This record gives sequence, structure tokens and C-alpha cells, in this order.
Amino acid sequence: MATTGASGVEVLLTTLQGAGDIESTLNILNVLDELLSAGTDRRIHYMISKGGSEALLSALVSTARCLSPNYTILLPLLHLLAKVGHRDKRIGLKAEKADAVLLVLSLLRQNVEQPQRAAACLWVLRVFCSSVSTATLLGENRGLDVVFQLISPHKLTQTHTVKAAIEAFAALLHSKANSRCAVTKGYVSALLKLYEDWHSKDTANAHVPIRKALLHCLHHATNTGAGRDALLAQGGMALLFHTTQFCSKANKGVESLMEFSIQLMRKCFPKCPLPLTSDQSVYTFPLPGMPASGQDIDPGAQDDSLEEDSDDDARNNDSDSREFLLPLVTPAPRAGSLCCYFSFCFCSPPFLTRTWISSLPTGPRAQLSQVPPPHLVRAALLLLMAALQTNRAKDDDLETDPDKLLARPAPDRPRQELGQYMHLCPELHHDFQDLDMHTEAEGGSDEEVFLNGHSGPGWGHISGESQHSPHPEKQAKPFPARSQLSARDFHSCYLSSPSARQDCQRMVDRLLDSHQPCVPHHDPHIYAAAAAHTKSVPGLSVLAFPDFWGHLPPPGQEPMATRKPNVQRKKVFEDIQRQLSPEDVIGRMVFDLEEPSPQCQTENLDSLRFYSKFESGNLRKAIHVRRYEYDLILNADVNCSQHLQWFYFEVSGMESDVPYRFNIINCEKVNSQFNYGMQPVLYSMREALEGRAHWIRTGTEICYYRNHFCPSKGAGPAYYTLSFTVTFQHSEDVCYLAYHYPYTYTALQIHLQMLEQTVDSRKVFFRKQNLCHTLAGNPCPLITITACPESRNWTYVHELRKRPCVFLTCRVHPGESNASWVMKGSLEFLCSSDPVAESLREAYIFRIIPMLNPDGVINGMHRCSLNGEDLNRQWIRPDPALSPTIFHTKGILYYLHSIGRAPLVFCDYHGHSRKKNVFLYGCSVKETLWQAGSMVNTNTLKEDPGHRTIPKTLDRIAPAFSFNSCNYLVEKSRASTARVVVWREMGVVRSYTMESTFNGCDQGIYKGLQVGSGELEEMGLKFCQSLLPLRMNTLLYSPKLLSHASTLLDLDHNQLNHKSHNCFEDDEPPCAEEIEYLGDSCPEHSGEEMDADVNTSGSDEEEEVEARNGLRHTSRNSCLIPLHTREDSFKPLNGKRTHSSVDGQYLG
Ligand SMILES: [Zn+2]
Repeated sequence: MATTGASGVEVLLTTLQGAGDIESTLNILNVLDELLSAGTDRRIHYMISKGGSEALLSALVSTARCLSPNYTILLPLLHLLAKVGHRDKRIGLKAEKADAVLLVLSLLRQNVEQPQRAAACLWVLRVFCSSVSTATLLGENRGLDVVFQLISPHKLTQTHTVKAAIEAFAALLHSKANSRCAVTKGYVSALLKLYEDWHSKDTANAHVPIRKALLHCLHHATNTGAGRDALLAQGGMALLFHTTQFCSKANKGVESLMEFSIQLMRKCFPKCPLPLTSDQSVYTFPLPGMPASGQDIDPGAQDDSLEEDSDDDARNNDSDSREFLLPLVTPAPRAGSLCCYFSFCFCSPPFLTRTWISSLPTGPRAQLSQVPPPHLVRAALLLLMAALQTNRAKDDDLETDPDKLLARPAPDRPRQELGQYMHLCPELHHDFQDLDMHTEAEGGSDEEVFLNGHSGPGWGHISGESQHSPHPEKQAKPFPARSQLSARDFHSCYLSSPSARQDCQRMVDRLLDSHQPCVPHHDPHIYAAAAAHTKSVPGLSVLAFPDFWGHLPPPGQEPMATRKPNVQRKKVFEDIQRQLSPEDVIGRMVFDLEEPSPQCQTENLDSLRFYSKFESGNLRKAIHVRRYEYDLILNADVNCSQHLQWFYFEVSGMESDVPYRFNIINCEKVNSQFNYGMQPVLYSMREALEGRAHWIRTGTEICYYRNHFCPSKGAGPAYYTLSFTVTFQHSEDVCYLAYHYPYTYTALQIHLQMLEQTVDSRKVFFRKQNLCHTLAGNPCPLITITACPESRNWTYVHELRKRPCVFLTCRVHPGESNASWVMKGSLEFLCSSDPVAESLREAYIFRIIPMLNPDGVINGMHRCSLNGEDLNRQWIRPDPALSPTIFHTKGILYYLHSIGRAPLVFCDYHGHSRKKNVFLYGCSVKETLWQAGSMVNTNTLKEDPGHRTIPKTLDRIAPAFSFNSCNYLVEKSRASTARVVVWREMGVVRSYTMESTFNGCDQGIYKGLQVGSGELEEMGLKFCQSLLPLRMNTLLYSPKLLSHASTLLDLDHNQLNHKSHNCFEDDEPPCAEEIEYLGDSCPEHSGEEMDADVNTSGSDEEEEVEARNGLRHTSRNSCLIPLHTREDSFKPLNGKRTHSSVDGQYLG
């Protein structure tokens, strides 16, 4: 029988197949069932691995095929097969192979009048359908019809069989062929009727599983377009909507029915294209070297539209694909670059050896490790060029190959080009003759001076006195009373006509006279003057009031919004009602960015008025949907059709104390911090004029969910709705709503200007220079800050020049305005008289590029620059014409590196929309190899652990900072970001991306609070403070400072034990209200549910029926085996064999 050493299960299986008599077969089945019921699923899986499914199938076939099949054996066999088959992924194929599929269908046909036998067959058929081909085979043999006839309207008996039939039917619909067939045969309508019947009659909710199984069938039937159309045509939406409105929420089972129904409705909700002529941005910008056709240069539909911030999305596609798809945008390498490259290599031998050897393929490298003869050098250089050309492809194993991680890539430009950057390091050539006068403009810099007549003494001082009145004329045109002030009064001022400007100026003066703004480092007049120089794609001429007037951090703490239960469900119901009652929808466009002027806005008095044509503004369309509800559509990034997240717009004409619902309907990301307590921000003009010039968090009933809209061209990625409700405080106010605290390019310009004027020029060396001009012609400021030398004495000047450099950049992603507030905090701290700031200036030269993407910020973009590219994916080979700010930033870094002054610290400030807290991404070879699961032995690798010092300090001193969220992984998908390129190419160990949340913190003293601009500024200050420990040993401090710093920097005694974890993953728990993102998803039954069904078969309600057949069940645990076997209860199979030609053919 069984071979020696075989397990008990194997012995049983072999015996089962060889058993001749009923009694021993039953005994074996009984033992098997006991064995499998007692343990966990592991026993069943073990049995499957030992051929259990095949043995049961073979026993089934031989039993069922005989002339009068013995149901005493068949029934327990079917039950056992259902239990085992449910855990066997290949059961369908095995059944087909054993010729068991149609055999069971035939058994079912013969037993439609025998509820228990029918149920057993149905369970088995259901598990067979786990294979789509098996389901299709059954469908081809009229399986759908046979099964469906066992599904009855509401009744009180034999519900187990009905449930088994519905579930088998649902399983059959796994197959798309069956699903289509079911639609054609009208089963969708029949299923809806059945659902309605069970729903209305099952008032006691005794048969929720049956109702759920019917929904399950409908889910499968609507996996095809025809199925969804059928459901809509048969009034399915109205039926489902109706049934969900009157469900008792107390019952958990009913709750799951509701969830299921809602998912079904959302799935069948007809897709609605956005009401746009094109998904392309309203703004196009002709690129150098490109036809000015405004064609979409979006790099492929799915590229990184859903991508997270620079350094935080594991799904991000790297730049390879973009470059590949964009031959027009990335021009061919400049002529002559090869020879330049060669000359560079030859003129710097140490560099050559390092670079070239490490870049070579391993073969030649071995030969070249000794001093090579010249002909070999040339050969090697040729190899190197080839290697460079395939550099990208070779980086595929960047994360696991220490040689690649350690290799320093060749520079992207010849060394001769670097000299031009010397003038951008003003301390290197400044002679400090002006130490006493300090008013002279820096040689070689081309600072923009915006004062334009406002630069009288005192403008730059931030005392509270009202000293601004460069426009003393008290004028002719009466200024509207404050109560009548409207958005348009303000707008009209900044329209292009000069006379209007004059009126405006007068209005502004009056405003400023009557309501003194007192925002530090901000002045409305200077703002307005500076804004006139800001170059935008649409030629913006209107100022948004908050930018003009200024913003003060809100005085109180702003807790994260608590999410009410079922808020999303409520919103979805409201959306579905639009489809059910289209007559209730107003559907009127009330704002369109493409309309040329604000005067074109609707004059409709019963509607809100919207506006967004100002710096950083983003709102493309507003549609009045219901009395207090508006759909809003965002504008894609310039020259793109994607990157929709940032918004900033004005709203006016409101009534107070009325909840207005706003839906931003073309968001792209699959999830959002708006589901986790984040609120948008609001600025009220009235409040500001009353002295409360704050952006504040606002909004209730906030949720973010997938909607029924699609791109205007009809196909493409799904859109998501951000829905929030705002109750305005004042009627007829002018308010502004934004994704986050706005920070415009103009705001940066005046901030720098006022900082420059307020710093103590005897102590602080502060230089604002122009790094380069952007594509649109805006200067990109570069700031140098350090301490002035004590005197012009050579020793002091020399000491200054050899200070290490800290290089900070920010706002490469224009939608990340939070990063700008952090940078504002850093800048103000570094210019302050704080003793730590003084020490920092004495310790370092700070080079700061506070806005790497001014054009993106100005034009209200979220991700890209005007060339439609993510600038933080351009660092490997930035194009001088298309990405000038990156090209020149890298140029300075190359220059510093070439003179042996590569930065000690590099940090690029970003915002993170999916995570809480503030954290750093750094670079570590060891951590990368560990996290990437490399087999390389890292013990032999020596690595400077310096990359962890700053995060450790920040964890101690910065309340918003989370050390646990930091990561030092060098991902290949981020090989072209600033952080990785500066680390690899310039050898900067402390090269970071700092990510700041848009939402708030889940740890520390800010736990549960949203960040305000104040907390972000504090973070910028703390980042600077954390730099001090790096130079503790090299600087002499005053005792006062030492005591100050030692509390700050008490590092050695408190070693942190945090383990870094991979924070590229989403760290949010599932949303309190489960979010259904995939229309097709449909929860399947667990093995336990199936067991419960099988085990309770024939119990309770069916007992009566079965009792007539004399069937009884054995143990509680296993109900498979009838206690008494009676021949008379089994009907021969052959009685109905000839009824079906299919079965006949099969069985005959
Ligand atoms: Zn970013």
C-alpha cells in the first residue's frame, strides 16, 4: 500500500483511492475530516501538497460514475472537497484534469430538488471556479442557468442552498465570458430584482449574508462596461441608493452591506469628463529650441503625476524614461563637450585616476590598477566614454553595488567653465575696504533694486511706527468705505491701465493709513513695487491681498481636524444624487481662468465669485453645483496636463454663517493628508484689516476620495476629490483659500531686500546676488551670509575665506510653500543677533539659494518648471538652457569642489504631502546596502558616520523633527536628485533633503497639531542651530555661548537608539473610514466562512427536510458523515443522465 516512511495523511489518501467498500471509505473520510477540522490550515495545505485534492477528485469521479452513485459516500466527499479545494489555488485545473468539473455540474442538475446534495455540489462548483478557465468551461455548459434556477426570491427555508447557489453564481462570474453572457441573458436585472426582494422582506436582517452574496454577484457582473450599463439601465443606482438610505447603522452586517452597495454605486457611476476643452494647462510657454506650438511635453501619461515630493516616493519613475521620451526637450550634447571632457581629465590627474578607474567595467579595471602607459590611458578613456554613455543603465544596481555607490561620476562640464562662478563667492575676492561704509554694491553682482522711489530712509526698518507715506497726496477719488470693500476694488487697482493704478495706489495708501500692517520683514508698498518686476507667463497684473498685506503666524495652536464618522459616505451619496436627480444640479460655470479679465466673472448675485489670476494662484474653473456647493478645477503645470495639487484662489460674495461645500475635483494623488487631519488655509481680508492678518487652518467635513471624473479627452488616470466645507465669518468678505500658507517669489524678493537692509552690516556679511535668470527672465537670488572679519587685516580675511561652507537650497518644487517658510526661518535666524547665530556666522559661510524654481512658484505650478520637467530630476546633467538654475547651482558646487571647498553640509528644503513631522533624507553606502538586501559584507566598508550628527541634534532640539522618519538610502530612482548628486559628485557626506509636513506632527510637543508658518520658521532656525556641533572642536566660544550651546548640543551623553526604517512607504494607518480606491475590488470569502457554511449544512432550518431522508450528523466539529447509511436515500445518477447532451457526452 503506502511506501515506507509515508505520513499518516499519505497512507489515508492511498487507502481512500484503493478502498472498495462503503464502510471503509466512509471511515477514511471521517478520519480525514476529523484530522483537518481539528488543526489549522497548515494541515490542509500539507494534505494538498501530498496530492490530497487529486485523491479526493479521483474518489469523487469513481464514485459518481458508477451506475447508481452512492450518496452516502458522495456527500461527505463533496463536503471534504469543498473544504480542501477552497485552500488549493489550482483546484480548478486539477478538477478539469480529473474530468470532475462537468461531472459535478451534472450531479447538481440531477439534484435540484435535493437541497442538501445541491448545496454540496454548489460549494464544490464554487471552489472549482477559482480558476477562470474552469468557470468559463462551466459557463459554456449552461452552468449559469443551472445554478441560477436554485436562487429563489425571499423564503424562509433552505436558505443555505440558496446562499450556496448565489455564491456559486458569483464565482462563475469571475470569468469575463460568463459575466458578459450573464449580462446578455438579463441576469443583471434579475439579480437586482432578487436583491430588492430580499432587502424589502428581510426586515429582521436575518439573511444579510444572502443579500451580501447578491451584491457580490452584481459586483462581478459589472466588471464589464456592458454590465455597468445594464445596471444603470435597470435602475440599479436608484435601487442601491434607496436601499442604503434606510439601513440601520447599528448592525455591523448591515453596515457591510452599505459599504458594499456604495462601492458598487461608485463603480457604476458613469465617468464624466471634466468640462474642459483640453487637459493641458491654460498657460503655455515657448521653450528655447522648441516650436512655440504649446504642444504637450508631458512625459507620458502616468509618469510622475502621482509622484510624491522629490525624495519621498518609491513609485517615482527615474529620469531615464523622461529623457528617453523627450528627445526634443533634452538637446544633444553640446559640440565639443567630448574634447573638453578629455582635456579636463588630462589636466587633473588625481581626479582622473579616481573617477576613471572606478567608472570602468571590472575587466579593464583590474589591468589598470597599476600606473598605465599612455596608449592604455587613451584606450581607457575611450572605454570611459562608453561607460559614461551607458551610465544610466549601469546604475540599475546602484543600491546593491558598493563600487557604484562609492564611485564618483565624471563631471558634466569642463573645468574651464567653472571660473565664471568665482564672482558668486563674494567673500573670496572682497577686500573688505568698505568695512566701515558697507553700502557699495557687490562687484559683478546684478542685484535687482525694487524700491523705485520707495527707498527712503526707514523703509527697511521694522519698527512699528507708521512711516510709510511716500504718496502724500490725499486725493480726489474717494476711497470706498471699508464696509463696502470688495475684491474688485482691490483688483481693479492692479489692472494694467495707468490711471487705475493711480487710483489703486491711493486706495492702498488709504488702507495703509487706516490699518497699519505690522508684519516683520514685510512692507506692502515695497511688495507692490517688487511685484511689478515679477515676470509671469500670463502677464499677471493683480495682487492677491494676503501677499500684499502680509501674514503673521496665527496666535494659537491649530489642532488637526477630527474626522466625523462617515463623512466620506455622506459626500459620496451627495455625488450620486447628482446622477439620480440631474434636475437639482445648477451646473453653471462661474469662473474660468481663460476669460481675459476679472470683469468677465459672473455678475450673478446668488453665486460666489472666484478669482485666481495672481502670483502663485491656481484655480482654472469654478462650477456652481448646488446652492452652497461648488466644483473647482485646478490648472495643470505650465506646458503640462498634470501635477494637480497646489491651489490658491480668491472667493468673495459670500453670506456669513452658511456652510459652503467646495470640491476640488481633479486631484491626482491616491491619498492625502487631508484624510488625516489636515485642513486648507484661509485668509480673510476683513480680519486682516481688523489687525488679524493671518492665514488660518479652516474647513470641516474634509475628505479626499476617488471620484467619477476623468480627463476631458475621456480616458486617462482617475481623479480624486478634495472636499471641504467652509463657513465664512463675514458676509461680503474677500477671502483666499490655499493648499498651504502661500509664499510667492515676490515675497521672497522683498524679504531678502528687507533682511539686507536690517542686518548689522558691521557684523554680518550679507550679499544678495543673481545666480542666473530663469526661463521667464526672473533673477534667481543667491545669498551669501557669514560674519564680517574683525578688520581688514589679512589674518582675519584669510580666516573668513577658509571657513567651511554650508549650502542650502529650497523650493525646487513650487507647490511646497512650506519649505519656503522653513527657509525664511533659517534666513532670519542667520541674520539675527542671537549668540548662536553669531557663532554660526563665525563658523561658516552660508550660501543659500532660497528659490530654485521661481517660474514655477510665480505661475502657481505644483511640481515642474516651465519646461514641464521636475527640476529635482535634472541634477545629473542639467541643461543650461532649460534648467538654468540647476545648471548654475551645480556650477557653483563644482567650482567650490574644484578649489577644495566643497560644502561641509548641503541641504535642499522640501515639503512632504503624505507624511507628518519634519525629517531628513541623507546618503549612506552602508545603510543603502543593508536596506537593499545586498550580500556585500559591510563590515569591511569604512564610512564616515557624520551623516547622522545633524539628525541626532535635530531630534533633540527641534520639536517638529522626527529622527525615526529619517532615512539614508541612496535609491536609484533618486540618482538625479540634488541630495544624491551632491553626495556622489562633490563627495559631500552630509548631503540632505529636508522634508517638512504640510499637515502636522504625531510626536513631541506638537503632537496632534497642524504646523503653522511659525513652527515651520522655527524648524529653519533649529536646522541652523544643529550645524553648530559640527564645529564645536574647532571654534573658540565665549563662556556664555558655551553654556548656551552645551544645553543645545548635549550629544555625547545621550546616544540615541533609534533605528531608521524605510520611510519611503506610506506611514499612515488605513483611513478611519475605509477608502475604496479600486472599483473592481471585491472582498472574497475566507476559508473559515466556507467551512462554516459546509459545517452548518443541513442544520436548523433544513433539518426538517433532511430528517425525512433520515440523515443525521455526527460531531459538532465535523458534520460530514451521516450516522446511518441508508441505501434508499440515494438516487441513482443515471436517472437523469440523458437529459443533458453535454453531461451525456461527458458521462457516457
Ligand atoms: Zn519636493
